[in-house]
Amino acid sequence: MDIWQKAEKEIILHDKKLNIVESCVDRHAQATPNKPALIFQSEKGNKKTMSYKELEKKTNKFANLLKELKLKQNSRVFIFLPKCEEIYTSFLGTIKHGSIAIPLFEAFESEGLELRLSRGDANVVVTNKELAKRMKKMDHRKVIVIDSDEYKKQIENCSEEFKPVLKDKKETAFMIFTSSTAGTPIAGVEISHYALVQQHSTAQLVLDLKENDKYWCTAHPGWVTGTVYGIIAPLSIGCTNYIYEGHFDSKKWIQFIKENKISVIYTAPTALRMLKGEINKEDLSTVRNICSVGEALTDTVFNFYKKLGIEINDTYWQSETGAMMIANWPALKKKPGSMGKPLPGIKAKIREGTISFEPPWPGMMTGIYRHENLYKSYFKNKLFTTNDLATIDKQGYFFFTGRKDDMIKTSGERVSPIEIESILMRHKAVKEVAVIGIPDQVKGQIIKAFIVLQKSFSPSDKLKEELSMFVKKNYAGHAYPKEVQFMESLPKTNSGKIIRMKLRQDHK
Ligand code: AMP
Repeated sequence: MDIWQKAEKEIILHDKKLNIVESCVDRHAQATPNKPALIFQSEKGNKKTMSYKELEKKTNKFANLLKELKLKQNSRVFIFLPKCEEIYTSFLGTIKHGSIAIPLFEAFESEGLELRLSRGDANVVVTNKELAKRMKKMDHRKVIVIDSDEYKKQIENCSEEFKPVLKDKKETAFMIFTSSTAGTPIAGVEISHYALVQQHSTAQLVLDLKENDKYWCTAHPGWVTGTVYGIIAPLSIGCTNYIYEGHFDSKKWIQFIKENKISVIYTAPTALRMLKGEINKEDLSTVRNICSVGEALTDTVFNFYKKLGIEINDTYWQSETGAMMIANWPALKKKPGSMGKPLPGIKAKIREGTISFEPPWPGMMTGIYRHENLYKSYFKNKLFTTNDLATIDKQGYFFFTGRKDDMIKTSGERVSPIEIESILMRHKAVKEVAVIGIPDQVKGQIIKAFIVLQKSFSPSDKLKEELSMFVKKNYAGHAYPKEVQFMESLPKTNSGKIIRMKLRQDHK
């Protein structure tokens, strides 16, 4: 029996069919109905607890609502909400209904949002009154506004009974609309129901999650870490998932860990760096395991937390891999600065300097929505290629060295330079633009725009601010240029293509 066949035994499979929500919610609702599944805490400290039984009822109600709205299976349901109870109930309810859930980060403004909704052929958008204002057009979409009287009435009248619709292993459970730099900046990475096998087993091995854990994943469910390890994997394990609804604040985060006696944390190096000035050994006395993802965990950060008694387990994966691929886990001897070793069942190689994997593995994306060629471009010479550069040492430890393409990672969040450039090009002062990520001590990278102005405009600090805010207002609150530099011209190839690499090198 291979490793994945063994792992299959940990989840609910009906021969070749499954619905992940049965494993994540319904089985625990039967075995431990009163156990808290989700505990929400607002910035002000107000708490709300939802047991596994309540979660089951609420996801059933949502699935029934989709049915009543006459939505067919495989509808694409976008979820555009801040961290709140309805992200979880609508995400799981959609999947239960046999449809495809697509969570989006709440910071997208009109243009960033619209691009995603139209590229994903949204059938439904679940949102709130405030965020709904950012939707420009309705097309044929149904909009579910969770704080409207209409929704409250509808959901109240829905039945609490629903049998999860069983799907073939390879059918899509959810999509992650992420940024690539390969010509098409935004695309929906499709992850199957069967990916749960790997998501569950990595949560056991790497996060070391057990049923009695008090677990906190700090990522918003609009990012793949927040979806897979903030909703699916911990619920499948059956532990209690804590959700802090506010934004980052060192003091409040530390208070949250202490007050709730959190035992396992999954976060990004940016947050770990930002906590450094405030956190001490006693604050982490209940914490057994901290894992990190999204950007390189430097040895300075690793050594800092080691002195506080915790060896951070850095993990490596991407939306396209559907689950962790290379990682440190509690029993593995750590090498500071290394992202660890390939996980059991994963065959990883460095091919032309790039991290590559031997397909298939359970979490591997099954497609990219409406981008067949982009999907195919990941597979070369029987290997899946990642565009991430790394080295391996003699003991088989991987060390991340950078990206092969132009993708930017800021605070662990993935941003395409092409998308930001196309927004900036719409400003009347801009003639040409190139966007890159530049190193930042806290956020890993920040976004910088190099701009050639139209003849009738002159450089000024006021114009820099205006251009930066133009992106923030129209595209996204989390991904706008913090720095703007005016240029006479941009470096280009003979065929006229902008060489972002040259700008990055000049910046070092
Ligand atoms: P995302 O799909 O948003 O999760 O972004 C995936 C990308 O984040 C990877 O392709 C890497 O470029 C980067 N990344 C993820 N984990 C790590 C890590 N442990 N160290 C360095 N970079 C990472």
